Amino acid sequence: MMSCLSRVADLHKWIHVVGCMIVAIDGPAGTGKSSVAKEVARSLRFAFFDTGALYRSLAWWVEAQGITWQDESGVKEALCSFHWELRGEDSPSYFVNGTDVTLLIRKAPMADLASKIAAYGFVRDYLLSSQRHFAEGRNVVFEGRDIGTVVFPQADVKIFLTASPRVRAERRQQDLSRQFPHQIFSVEEILSQIEQRDGLDERRAACPLKRAPDAVEIDTTFLTFDEVVKTVLAKIRPHLVPSSSSKGWFYGTVYWTVRGFFRLFYGLKIEGDMYVHKGAGLIVANHASYLDPPVLSVSCPEEVHFLARGSLFQNALFGWFIRKLNAHPVEKTGQDVKVFRDILKLLSMGHKVILFPEGVRSLDGCLQPFQRGLAFIVMKAKVPIYPAYLQGTYQVWPRGQRWPKWKGKVTCRFGPPLYFDVWRARDKRALEEEILSKTWQAVRNLEQG
Ligand code: C5P
Repeated sequence: MMSCLSRVADLHKWIHVVGCMIVAIDGPAGTGKSSVAKEVARSLRFAFFDTGALYRSLAWWVEAQGITWQDESGVKEALCSFHWELRGEDSPSYFVNGTDVTLLIRKAPMADLASKIAAYGFVRDYLLSSQRHFAEGRNVVFEGRDIGTVVFPQADVKIFLTASPRVRAERRQQDLSRQFPHQIFSVEEILSQIEQRDGLDERRAACPLKRAPDAVEIDTTFLTFDEVVKTVLAKIRPHLVPSSSSKGWFYGTVYWTVRGFFRLFYGLKIEGDMYVHKGAGLIVANHASYLDPPVLSVSCPEEVHFLARGSLFQNALFGWFIRKLNAHPVEKTGQDVKVFRDILKLLSMGHKVILFPEGVRSLDGCLQPFQRGLAFIVMKAKVPIYPAYLQGTYQVWPRGQRWPKWKGKVTCRFGPPLYFDVWRARDKRALEEEILSKTWQAVRNLEQG
């Protein structure tokens, strides 16, 4: 059993995944962290992780095993047979060894028990890896007690929510009454439980509840739910939007010139670019025209990298020019391994990479099946996919035509990012299929507007 714990402890040497954004929302019980974090995640299309649910689920498992919280070795045993699963994105369900505990863990005794077992250092060490793994390759809003201090001390945005104990008790009572409409909950009783739990959480030796020095504290006592969400979003936004000044001067000059050119001649319209967040990711689009790479590049709010045929680099001047625009040569000699390695390297450096997974330009402008390499890259790099659809480029410059037409209407449409639960996937083959089909469908949906 101890080997099981020490194996998990190794995972503590965790490295921040380049390019994915972590929002840490900490604070004591009843400040509305969960509802706020969930709403913030929903509006940003980030994943959401309620770490309290993880501790509560373990509490449920410990109790289900007939183990008391004082029985340290019993809790260790329970930990090693604890298999926790989170299913669903928007309103997640929690499963412990196959049992749905979503509602069961919401009862007050579970919160108290969670608080007691959460004070064990070995419990926290063990659950740390699940939390960190969840963040791999995606943007996540985490809520808990020690997210900004211990789980993700390097989180991009740290928020610490507070409120007066009475207001917190009243909110908790409203929450519980909603969840269990046939029961009556007393504010006074909840208030004393909250104060007791705060005391335990603040005073424990292992990862106590405290504000990270760089966290923004928001006192929600006199704020409505919408006001809290708005305030939190306002703190996150500057970290999210890639600023135009983040582009190098050469890239920036060409970017704005070419973008102006496309606007002038082809009425370039860019839709959904707010979905493209900072950091590593694959921009996956349909490909039917030579215009696709430049149109996609100048539509993306951030600098992008892309692969281009090696022969384009033969002319030294042109080769220098496109290299400065983040083009990377690929040889058409079937050196897939090198191509994959190059892409993975770019992604691990936190770049956005454009990929046209159809492989070749479409002959008739229709979307073709995607090649499996896309799934391989996502599974290795664990980065989000930003689906995009290029409309009108085929009409302006179809395959087989020597020159483009001088007039036309071009639109670049981005969709919400797709995240795949790579690290928890048991069946790699099924995941590969899921990545290919969901991404293809997302691009297809954008075609229809
Ligand atoms: O947030 P929630 O009230 O669901 O958490 C239940 C208990 O789990 C907390 O009182 C706390 O003791 C523990 N917890 C923790 N660290 C976290 C999340 C929850 O210690 N990150």
